[in-house]
Amino acid sequence: MAASRRYNVVMQGSDDDYKKKLTPEQYAVLREGVTEAPFTGELLHNHDTGDYTCAACGSVLFDSSTKFDSGSGWPSFYDVKNSKAVKLKEDTSHGMQRVEATCANCDSHLGHVFNDASDQPTGTRFCINSCALNFDPKGKV
Ligand SMILES: [Zn+2]
Repeated sequence: MAASRRYNVVMQGSDDDYKKKLTPEQYAVLREGVTEAPFTGELLHNHDTGDYTCAACGSVLFDSSTKFDSGSGWPSFYDVKNSKAVKLKEDTSHGMQRVEATCANCDSHLGHVFNDASDQPTGTRFCINSCALNFDPKGKV
């Protein structure tokens, strides 16, 4: 096979696989759509350069260059790394009309999308649970 660029992406596993792989908090967020408590996420104040990947399957979702501090208490991005990697769905739970962001590869819940980032290039805010993400730093050995 040609040396095409491949991500180390695990295809959708069984529920048990996720339970083994993820912490209880990650499982609740990614697979049950729970929202983590604000200002608790490890990646909230991460300013290093690199990729943010799905904690459940490893798919690359966001780039550090689009991360900004929205003051919301959750990691915020004004754009996705690859529009095919993040799927948007209408979410009417909790009596609110919101847009849910999910991982296109494994269908895990990531967070919600809002159009209130008027100070950002796209005006869009991807409000993502920190524990739904892993960080893959660039330029480190
Ligand atoms: Zn995923």
